[in-house]
Amino acid sequence: MASFLKIAIRNLFKGPCTDPYPFGETFVPRGLRGKIKYNAEACVACRMCEYVCAGGAIQIKEAPDKSGLEFILWHNTCAFCGLCEHYCPTKAIRLTEDFHTAHRQEDKYRYVEKGFIKYVHCVQCAAPMVPVAPELLSVAYEQVNKDIERLRQLCPKCRQKQAFR
Ligand code: SF4
Ligand code: SF4
Repeated sequence: MASFLKIAIRNLFKGPCTDPYPFGETFVPRGLRGKIKYNAEACVACRMCEYVCAGGAIQIKEAPDKSGLEFILWHNTCAFCGLCEHYCPTKAIRLTEDFHTAHRQEDKYRYVEKGFIKYVHCVQCAAPMVPVAPELLSVAYEQVNKDIERLRQLCPKCRQKQAFR
């Protein structure tokens, strides 16, 4: 009994040793797979993330006014598997270490990550096209020269013709 009292009194002065969360911040384990972040500027709309998504959480579709592509990801459906990040060629989609994913039930369809890829126009035929992100060039080429920069501004059809020439 005496030893119990000793421990109790000692602990009283030591203060709490449990985690303060949610009243204070807590630690985040390194490499935690948390909320997804999407960067439309680095996205080349290859749709690989949509294809591999285990939870069916990603949708990429053309905007009603045909000015570009809308990207939407439902956080609520994401299973944090990391496949989208793994297969994304430009790392436009990443899992962050943000674990704050609690939300109210009525917010589940509003709890989304959105992005928009605005079409640009081919410098040769003016067809609308998805811009080629610089991130893709740095993955594909060791050095980006003027010829590659010129190809970047062409739509896939004109690029093909140029390559044949
Ligand atoms: S982490 Fe997995 S489930 Fe979540 S969006 Fe990426 S592929 Fe889909
Ligand atoms: S986020 Fe990555 S994988 Fe998904 S469409 Fe864009 S470039 Fe492709």
